[in-house]
Amino acid sequence: MKKVRFYTLGCKVNLYETEALKGLFEKSNYKVVDNGFADVFVVNTCTVTAVSDKKSRQMIRRMKKLNPKSIVVVLGCYSQIAPEDVKNIKDVDIILGTTDRTKIVEFVENYDGNQVCYVKKDIPCEFENLKSVHQSRTRATLKIQDGCRNFCSYCIIPFARGPLRSKPILDTVNEVKELAKNGYKEIVLVGINLAMYGVDIKSSLTEIIEEVCKVEGIERVRLGSIEPNLITDEFISRISKLDNFCHQFHLALQSGSSSVLKRMNRRYNTEEYLDAVKRLNCAFSDCAMTTDVMVGFPGETDEEFAESMKTVEESGFSAIHVFPYSRRRGTVADKMENQVPENVKTQRSEKMIALGKKLKQKYYEKYVGKTVSVLFEREISTNVFEGHTMNFIQVIANGNGTEGKCQNVVLKGYKEDCMTGEII
Ligand code: SF4
Repeated sequence: MKKVRFYTLGCKVNLYETEALKGLFEKSNYKVVDNGFADVFVVNTCTVTAVSDKKSRQMIRRMKKLNPKSIVVVLGCYSQIAPEDVKNIKDVDIILGTTDRTKIVEFVENYDGNQVCYVKKDIPCEFENLKSVHQSRTRATLKIQDGCRNFCSYCIIPFARGPLRSKPILDTVNEVKELAKNGYKEIVLVGINLAMYGVDIKSSLTEIIEEVCKVEGIERVRLGSIEPNLITDEFISRISKLDNFCHQFHLALQSGSSSVLKRMNRRYNTEEYLDAVKRLNCAFSDCAMTTDVMVGFPGETDEEFAESMKTVEESGFSAIHVFPYSRRRGTVADKMENQVPENVKTQRSEKMIALGKKLKQKYYEKYVGKTVSVLFEREISTNVFEGHTMNFIQVIANGNGTEGKCQNVVLKGYKEDCMTGEII
């Protein structure tokens, strides 16, 4: 049996696509291996920063060294944006972008030893229906949306992912039913711009959430990253009726300064963002806000950075991801003046990360002594289990636990970035 190995960079959407591709190879009698020799290597690339481009190239070369006779397949956002750069890497045999991934096994089987590129410049409007009902994680990720048309001034993704496309409702519900049958208790709905789910199929994210929450056996439905514009009164009132919907909202902020948000071409200002946070906190007592914040965007002054810190503090996040601005060729921000020096970006990252740690501890410590339901993802040592609550608090608990099962835990304290507890 031929062996295939995968290496994935980037976001949850990429991770989901890799899981789906593994399924396609397994269906064609390939054995998926996680290390060592393989006949086929697949590198699913990312291009969100210059660093991810570099990592993609490094991994391609490393794979070929492991087995010079192997077939190296490169796909994803980097090869969609820069197919010529990938073609120039002599170790690459087959190149795809962010389309036609369902044909990957056929392309490998038909490979004749000459490098071939299947990247399509124009990304079609149909949702490419990849499917993944066996995943290597307890929480099943489900990609239901692709593409973005927001063109935030720092972002290359709309060029890599193309027009807005949604997975049909019936396909989504059927895939969730299969995941439930395979024992998954939690579904994480993801997309490139998830908030735009349904615009191309006369539906909405709220509708698909309601449909997925109805599936028997699914105890939790969680959302990936969403845009603040999604948080309408109608959205809040409809999801507040769903018992198995997780009240953790990864609401991408990007900057806490309205003047920077304007230069980023984001579609809200800090007032509107804080209002969305306030309405969610009012609606859900266990609400958890998490976010992405960029520091060092072109022209960001000390005053604007101070505003950003203030907005982050006011939002009371339970976790923040901090990104120093990364120049991307082909974006509007790349041509902006007043690029911020790297050492200033580093200083600001450190300050924002420290604030994030303080806010996380403050949020977590509110739960000391409380009993919560935890979905255990793995046993890290004998009778010590790790998992997450519905509002995504990370928990390490002692006792008689079971992987893949939701169990009640009394939380004892905050230690090393997570909560400790006893399984009841
Ligand atoms: S919403 Fe903005 S940051 Fe997000 S993928 Fe689209 S363009 Fe990029």
